[in-house]
Amino acid sequence: MKKVELLAPAGDLDKLKTAIDYGADAVYMAGPNFGLRTASKNFTIEDMQEALEYAHSRGKKIYITMNILPHNEDLEGIEEYIQKLVDLKVDALIVSDPGIYSIIRSIDKDIECHMSTQASVTNYKTVNYWKEQGMKRIVLARELSLKEITDIKTKVPDVELECFVHGAMCMSYSGRCLLSNYMTGRDANRGDCAQACRWKYRLVEEKRPGEYFPIEENEKGTFIFNSKDLCMIEHLDKLIEAGIDSLKIEGRVKSQYYVATVVRSYRIAIDKYYNNEFDRETALRLLDEIKKVSYRDFTTGFFEKKPDENDHLYESASYIREYDFVGILLDYDENSKIATFEQRNRVFVGDEVEIFGPNDGFITTKIEKLYDEKMNEIEVANKAQQIFKIKIDADLQSNSMMRKKSDN
Ligand code: SF4
Repeated sequence: MKKVELLAPAGDLDKLKTAIDYGADAVYMAGPNFGLRTASKNFTIEDMQEALEYAHSRGKKIYITMNILPHNEDLEGIEEYIQKLVDLKVDALIVSDPGIYSIIRSIDKDIECHMSTQASVTNYKTVNYWKEQGMKRIVLARELSLKEITDIKTKVPDVELECFVHGAMCMSYSGRCLLSNYMTGRDANRGDCAQACRWKYRLVEEKRPGEYFPIEENEKGTFIFNSKDLCMIEHLDKLIEAGIDSLKIEGRVKSQYYVATVVRSYRIAIDKYYNNEFDRETALRLLDEIKKVSYRDFTTGFFEKKPDENDHLYESASYIREYDFVGILLDYDENSKIATFEQRNRVFVGDEVEIFGPNDGFITTKIEKLYDEKMNEIEVANKAQQIFKIKIDADLQSNSMMRKKSDN
């Protein structure tokens, strides 16, 4: 049986390697031009080469986003760029603009192309249209129910369907929104959304500048367009049974820790599903894992019903953070039992920490002694990217991560 694909975001080379190490089947990323998310570092051509070698040697795929809605000036240099991607042998290009797509096809008739969610494909006729134009895959609009997706798959079975299953949601049709552009000049459709939809809004009378009157949706305040984040881990079975071919995680600007935690949870869920082991208990346990990275409250988006006030956040636009990412394992010496970590958040002697790797489960331990790089005893590791060591007798997987309960 062909397994559903798990597709993960990568904002840089480290995140890409983490995504693959933690179970992604494919990774999407932006090159230096034409992809959304200018806030993520994006990849140079040399990075892309290294990324492709890393992925292909492990049987994984790399898709390159070219899904901006370009203005004339944005098209400068596009032919050369596409030619480079073709020469690099990337696995697919993700596009939304027919102009960009036509340029791709004029350069290479065969390179695999995916229609981006930016194109807001919401019905089987449009899916069929893009299939006839040579699209191998359609990333459906986030605004579809599971029933609609099943109908599309039934009517157009011979095209791959991809859906976002985890991450931030827009208040508009994904990304097709002028709010950020209007408020800040940053264009969401050219990869530079300021997330203006999540800001706290007030009313000002024109002759009383500086007096901000609250507009109350309820007693907590007014976050007019502040959607909860999408999380479908509890409904993974329904997604697969609806005929989706690829499950996509949002978040190219998120951290390595986020990528590891979320990708791993969906990886475990998918594998359990195909082993007939995916049940309610597993889903809730994995949801708890996902909540160990900072998150907004979760919604199932449009999959089950049209979102209502319960899918909106009223209290705050900030994230809930229950755990801190402490560090990444660089080395474990089986003889001395010394584990070497690169630090991300401070950690003290006496802290209870959890260590997890790509596989299911995690180790809980109390830090009795902490050492610096030269094995001098220290009380705290608190410098950015400082090397610290602990002694631990455990079966540590490579690329493991350490986390601890947040002090908040
Ligand atoms: S401002 Fe909000 S709704 Fe608009 S594109 Fe950005 S995230 Fe989406």
